[in-house]
Amino acid sequence: VPLERTRNFSIIAHVDHGKSTLADRMLELVGNIYKPGEAPGAAPPGSTKAAMAAAKAAESVANEQVLDSLKVERERGITVKAQTASLLYVPSGGDPDKPYLLNLIDTPGHVDFAYEVSRSLAACQGALLLVDCTQGVQAQTVANLSTARKSGLEIIPALTKIDLPNADPEPALEQIESVLRLPTDDVPWTSGKTGDGVTDALDAVVRRLGMPKGRPDAPTRALLFDSWYDEFRGVICVLQVVDGVLEKGDRVQTSHGDSQYVISELGLLTPGRHPVRRILAGQVGYVVTGMRDPREARVGDTVVVVQGAGATPAGEPPVGPLPGFEPSKPMVFASIFPVDTSDFDGLRVAVEKLALTDSSVTLVKENSSSLGFGFRCGFLGLLHMDVFHQRLADEFDMPVIATAPMVPYRIELEAGHSMPAGAAGTEAATPDEDGLITVERPDDFPDPNIIRRTFEPMVKASVIAPSEAYSSIMSLMQTHRGRSDEISYLDDGRVLMKYIMPWQEVVTNFFDKLKSATAGYATFDYEPAGYEASNVVKIDMLLNGAPVDSLSFVAHRSSAEVQGRRVAQRLRAVIRRQQFEVVIQAAFGKKIFARERIPPYRKDVLSRSGKTVGGGDLTRKRKLLEKQKKGKARMRSVGNVQLSQEAFHAVLSRG
Ligand code: GDP
Ligand code: MG
Repeated sequence: VPLERTRNFSIIAHVDHGKSTLADRMLELVGNIYKPGEAPGAAPPGSTKAAMAAAKAAESVANEQVLDSLKVERERGITVKAQTASLLYVPSGGDPDKPYLLNLIDTPGHVDFAYEVSRSLAACQGALLLVDCTQGVQAQTVANLSTARKSGLEIIPALTKIDLPNADPEPALEQIESVLRLPTDDVPWTSGKTGDGVTDALDAVVRRLGMPKGRPDAPTRALLFDSWYDEFRGVICVLQVVDGVLEKGDRVQTSHGDSQYVISELGLLTPGRHPVRRILAGQVGYVVTGMRDPREARVGDTVVVVQGAGATPAGEPPVGPLPGFEPSKPMVFASIFPVDTSDFDGLRVAVEKLALTDSSVTLVKENSSSLGFGFRCGFLGLLHMDVFHQRLADEFDMPVIATAPMVPYRIELEAGHSMPAGAAGTEAATPDEDGLITVERPDDFPDPNIIRRTFEPMVKASVIAPSEAYSSIMSLMQTHRGRSDEISYLDDGRVLMKYIMPWQEVVTNFFDKLKSATAGYATFDYEPAGYEASNVVKIDMLLNGAPVDSLSFVAHRSSAEVQGRRVAQRLRAVIRRQQFEVVIQAAFGKKIFARERIPPYRKDVLSRSGKTVGGGDLTRKRKLLEKQKKGKARMRSVGNVQLSQEAFHAVLSRG
């Protein structure tokens, strides 16, 4: 297919507005590139198991969602990993001998992956922006549109779910015009369920998007925007050839890496693998090389040809990277520890395997003074963290204790001071080019006396909710240090409120509170908004006089003591009585400002309300003992106090 008949596009939408359903319906209606009888190859999700499931789904088509194949994605109905599919499409009234090659670049629909989304969008000329016509414009619709506009994309708004009995297209169209400021004269009305309007959407893509720009004769530059790990083939990269050509046998290299690789296979994704001989400028496809380490496949990196048709001619300087690359930056940190201390090796094997299919998680071994060996993990955001924990449980059956998440703070030290090595055996942090040190663990927070200034990460949050909720949202935002940025009323009785707020406040259970403040009606989204100077301090939690590093946290000075008292109270509620007294304290520096006490229990384990269980009642006795043993499975002792996962939740919900 020539370049004039190629279109690269993506679909963006608020969660649950029907993106995956519509994409699957597109594949089902038109997406048959492989010849009859030819089996599709393994599809590109995060794990081999999932790949097989997806390949199977692709074969049986329909009903199952082909594009969302990771188990957690299905369970939560979200797209964690972008997936790409090429389809051959003859537009309505078009010449059947002249089909268009449409490359559908699915994007992860979550703010955690904002950078990954921006790189995927960089490979597109336009995007279908879906609005569920029973829900109207939502917070994520606004945020997605802003990202797409930043990438300079042509936006085609489209309505979804028009088959539903309560479908009400008029207000949705009105909002597309007034809130999103997009023209509504050419909006496809679609249903991923019945297939209605799907061809209208594809026709609009063909008609309204330009062909990919690119210089076929220039030295090759390809934008790597996704990758996955295949147990047998190693790392498989998904890329768009921007200039030049990629061919089987080419020796290639990335602009931000040193290693060279030889292309052993390349092709189109349908979404199974469909090998071809070469990928030309403007086209999207996958590449298999000998690459084994997923961290070598950096999203946003540029693949150049060292030896092959697309190589730079001898004597010319090598081609530079495509713009827009950023190294992956974790935005939230939390530690995990095996429930059974002797099983650190089991945990290590599990997290290393998991990291193969998730190259954006960072792992540093740590030695906590309270919980022993574990890993400090860095995640792109809260969803990314949840997915990692859930996969650890689902796919590796690995029970862990996870600490409350913390955001990266940046610290300027007083002149003449440097950071000591991390308390948990991690290396001493060194200042970046701005002279700032990043702290990712509460216990690494330096002594306040040597801190000149601290900076915390901010986000720009968008909330859409019924107007009645306006004042409760405002007061919630106030207690979470939000600064109002913009307020506009939508015509359907809802209000759009934009705030600048500290990212740490969002991390500390904010969404749950917003939901309950608005009876579940609010939608919420955010984008990173840089760092701001802030007065934050570390609060220590002590059990029987000894500080417990895994329970300490960082909070804003103004609410630090309130939070410390709250954590102490919550801990009192979740720590089981022991045979001795437990004293819980919160301290700021040397100053103890909160104290809670759990009195010892004096009764025998096997007694109930003072009466000893009769000697004859063996089964009941055994059951009681077993129940106690089970409870223990999820407990860790710190000093001589037993802590369950709830203790760490107490720290999480302190805000
Ligand atoms: P995504 O989060 O945007 O990928 O949304 P999904 O495609 O997963 O859809 C969310 C829910 O809406 C699922 O339960 C779908 O079955 C349902 N859904 C999606 N599209 C339609 C549609 O056109 N009509 C109807 N009736 N339901 C739909
Ligand atoms: Mg989806």
